[in-house]
Amino acid sequence: SKSNGQNQYCFFTPDMNEEVSKKLLLESDLRKGLKEGQFQLYYQPQVSVASGEVKGYEALIRWEHPEYGMVSPGDFIPLAEETGLIIPLGRWVLEEACRQMMAWIKDGGGVLRMSVNISAIQFQQPDFVQIVKDILAETGLPPAYLELEMTETIVQDTTQSIPVMKEIRDMGVKISLDDFGTGYSSLSYLKDFPLNTLKIDKSFIDNMEQGSREKAIVDAIIHMAHRLEFNVIAEGIENEAQLQLLSGEACEEYQGYYYSPPLPSSKIEK
Ligand code: C2E
Ligand code: CA
Ligand code: CA
Ligand code: CA
Repeated sequence: SKSNGQNQYCFFTPDMNEEVSKKLLLESDLRKGLKEGQFQLYYQPQVSVASGEVKGYEALIRWEHPEYGMVSPGDFIPLAEETGLIIPLGRWVLEEACRQMMAWIKDGGGVLRMSVNISAIQFQQPDFVQIVKDILAETGLPPAYLELEMTETIVQDTTQSIPVMKEIRDMGVKISLDDFGTGYSSLSYLKDFPLNTLKIDKSFIDNMEQGSREKAIVDAIIHMAHRLEFNVIAEGIENEAQLQLLSGEACEEYQGYYYSPPLPSSKIEK
């Protein structure tokens, strides 16, 4: 367990405070994990509300830690960002997701899209666009199959991010805005971003009932997104009632445990 790991580390460096020792332990673990292939991608289906067909998959990283077992990305992505390890790790994710998608295309799976989460720190690297190009070239994946998921933190600095996003779009790669509604960016920014997809954050879906404020917000987001010609994906659909509420609103797609949790590729293939 985690607390064992901390105690163990404190044993080696008794004068360090717990926070620092935990961080150092994990940082060296992260490096080692990357070198030794301890990371894995799981894939969660993105499903058509109207037809129930799988339209795409979102790649979600998992870390099989030799001591702690499965560590969730919420616990190590922030550290990977702080330490800069997100750059090699993010590159690995992009490569692995593109390789997997290409394998599924060759198998004739009929899935249209692989969505990959991109951290702000990755996106801000001067060679980010080149890395995406290189990976597409290496894996042979046609750019139209790839979608990059970005959060509002990426989108905030418009003078920097819009030209990079346009370069990505010009390559034929799609862009989606993740966790929509949780950040602080002005709605008027939306008109300037070359987006394909808006993902409505789970926090709105959680409390969405007929007549609720959340329902009103979800409706408004969907209508606005359609006027801007974006595809809409609702995140975190856990039950039939939530899906029913969405189907009245012409929302294109959803993701959530109701259809399927993220799964390893071997389970997707079955
Ligand atoms: P996210 O991009 O918003 O991903 C959605 C999260 O919601 C995933 O958690 C997914 O497993 C979970 N989820 C999906 N459906 C449901 C549902 O019906 N109910 C509930 N309660 N949860 C659901 P996960 O895989 O733990 O990832 C957490 C976050 O870590 C992601 O949030 C994303 O911000 C980050 N992340 C994951 N993989 C990567 C990656 O490869 N690169 C980067 N930069 N970040 C990643
Ligand atoms: Ca995402
Ligand atoms: Ca999200
Ligand atoms: Ca999120």
